Amino acid sequence: MASHIVGYPRMGPKRELKFALESFWDGKSSAEDLQKVAADLRSSIWKQMADAGIKYIPSNTFSYYDQVLDTTAMLGAVPPRYGWNGGEIGFSTYFSMARGNAFVPAMEMTKWLDTNYHFIVPELGPDVNFSYSSHKAVDEYKEAKALGVDTVPVIIGPVSYLLLSKPAKGVEKTFSLLSLLDKIIPVYKEVISDLKAAGASWIQFDEPTLVLDLDSHKLQAFTDAYAALESTLSGLNVLVETYFADVPAEAYKTLTGLKGVTAYGFDFVRGAKTVNLIKGGFPKGKHLFAGVVDGRNIWANDLAASLSTLGDLEGIVGKDKLVVSTSCSLLHTAVDLANEPKLDKEIKSWLAFAAQKIVEVNALAKALAGQKDEEFFSANAAAQASRKSSPRVTNEAVQKAAADLKGSEHRRATNVSARLDAQQKKLNLPVLPTTTIGSFPQTIELRRVRREYKAKKISEEEYVKAIKEEINKVVKLQEELDIDVLVHGEPERNDMVEYFGEQLSGFAFSANGWVQSYGSRCVKPPIIYGDVSRPKPMTVFWSSTAQSMTARPMKGMLTGPVTILNWSFVRNDQPRSETCYQIALAIKDEVEDLEKAGINVIQIDEAALREGLPLRKSEQAFYLEWAVHSFRITNCGVQDTTQIHTHMCYSNFNDIIHSIINMDADVITIENSRSDEKLLSVFREGVKYGAGIGPGVYDIHSPRIPSTEEIADRINKMLAVLETNILWVNPDCGLKTRKYSEVKPALSNMVAAAKQLRTQL
Ligand code: GLN
Ligand code: ZN
Repeated sequence: MASHIVGYPRMGPKRELKFALESFWDGKSSAEDLQKVAADLRSSIWKQMADAGIKYIPSNTFSYYDQVLDTTAMLGAVPPRYGWNGGEIGFSTYFSMARGNAFVPAMEMTKWLDTNYHFIVPELGPDVNFSYSSHKAVDEYKEAKALGVDTVPVIIGPVSYLLLSKPAKGVEKTFSLLSLLDKIIPVYKEVISDLKAAGASWIQFDEPTLVLDLDSHKLQAFTDAYAALESTLSGLNVLVETYFADVPAEAYKTLTGLKGVTAYGFDFVRGAKTVNLIKGGFPKGKHLFAGVVDGRNIWANDLAASLSTLGDLEGIVGKDKLVVSTSCSLLHTAVDLANEPKLDKEIKSWLAFAAQKIVEVNALAKALAGQKDEEFFSANAAAQASRKSSPRVTNEAVQKAAADLKGSEHRRATNVSARLDAQQKKLNLPVLPTTTIGSFPQTIELRRVRREYKAKKISEEEYVKAIKEEINKVVKLQEELDIDVLVHGEPERNDMVEYFGEQLSGFAFSANGWVQSYGSRCVKPPIIYGDVSRPKPMTVFWSSTAQSMTARPMKGMLTGPVTILNWSFVRNDQPRSETCYQIALAIKDEVEDLEKAGINVIQIDEAALREGLPLRKSEQAFYLEWAVHSFRITNCGVQDTTQIHTHMCYSNFNDIIHSIINMDADVITIENSRSDEKLLSVFREGVKYGAGIGPGVYDIHSPRIPSTEEIADRINKMLAVLETNILWVNPDCGLKTRKYSEVKPALSNMVAAAKQLRTQL
């Protein structure tokens, strides 16, 4: 019985690659230094897997930036503006595409399916001359082989590569990406031949797009692509790997009928129907790579349950054809629990990071082969049992409160227009009211204060004093700028999710549980292990302190339940919706306490609502239903005169506009400056709905300072679509990554633009 790992994190257990990359980019170390760190990481990962007993060990899952960009380099599909003249693609061209250079901005980045990993989107047009321009796959194969490890080279499959690309500028509307299949296949053939010549006996093509709702034309592309590769693939074992959901029935037929393919990999964790697919029929003589160990979460596997699933599968495909695997690449989980000495012992026994998951995969494979490590299995069973019965996981009162939510809509009693009237009587705002999204620049000094307080180097008193001073500065600045609805600036927050997680029960935090987000950037999601409740108010002190400093309305600032959920590692022992409802109840208490403390405007950020949307259309309505319901729960209990804002970051809202309206917020601020056209439909719906809308009037991701005229022009364009009385004027998002030297003039111009337009109405 064999074991396999789909892919492995590259950053290293202590983010070694991140630091090596950033030092290289800063010119502080050489290319050789960077290559050395990378080679050491690769070799230690390969050795780790070999020592654990993994049979099919992946190579080419390392990347200096991103595996899709690596494929772009392999194909030589460098957009002309980067001035590449052919030959093997080196760091300079590669990192220019990834990060931009002094003359050309970076290529676009987008989320890898429904993960928080971002890839560099290939830009392809009819004129691209594909050529084999990065030998990374074969180089890494040889490198591992020299270390005594025979690996399975992993390459993004040709069809998924094209389906995840975008048409180059100028041909956006007319160009069919799949028409390039004939042009990239020859390069794939060269790569395959090269790998064969180097001694590879297996090859893995990642084709995650097979889990999407693809039409027959797209499915046909898979059939065509692998038929074209068949002769080159002959003599090799070929695995086509899918992940993040089950494969739809039609796609399953296509996949299992592909020429030249000898093995299929499926996600048995997210793929709720995968077992049934296999039971419905699996081609004779082919390998099944069964991804039973979760690559996207940090929970220890329920080994007994997995063993029983694997036993069923063995009955269908045969003993020698079943391979135990991970549900997807381990890229999406944390690296190694060994670096968590401070984590509570009991909670730790419930967890498995990438390094531990390798051991789990192997233990399952051995157990199936009749060599069950009884000690390992019984320790696992004990941990599973302790997790099920632990009093720190279950809070009866919370469970009951969440169960009691069922059957009610949780909608505010009055409609939004009536509420806005009541609010206006109290707030007395001018037309085109101005506001900001929450955070103000996070200075080095501020970070130092928070760090020293956390490390107990300064007293609570000193900390509170420092933060109060900062709030006062931010309040005074906003008054000087003459902004209408103020914020406190969020100086006490390191991160909009962690800040709340740290104060809620049911959350734990790792020291090194980093997951790559893009390039050298990593996030460290909180771990939700138990029922969530709020022991005491979380923001009331800071918000009421801020309100006491000004006569203008001060916005209370909260992160919404859906965003807290989507940016955490979520427990897998109850549906995500249950956990979300529990968080919603905790935030509801906070909203009501803010209201009692005299805060009349409360913003509940749902930056990540869109990104939690399931990949498959059939699952989207259910998600939107509970996500939007959770949001409404947080604020359905406030008075008409309390104004509820929500904020969402850049995303494609067109397909979920009805859900956004269904959130029933009084005011919605959205990132807009990069996508006027797309949001037009959102605005139009907004007109009908009557809520306040604040499409960002300038881009906060850029240091550029927009002029008054430019902002006025932008507001004018919005006024052409929207009614005057519902439009708000605000930047795209929070200002925390900007400098005061940028923020002051930009906001000053923003207020000037609003004032100028008010006189013309
Ligand atoms: N209130 C948060 C801030 O201003 C919102 C951040 C976000 O939307 N990502 O920083
Ligand atoms: Zn935002």
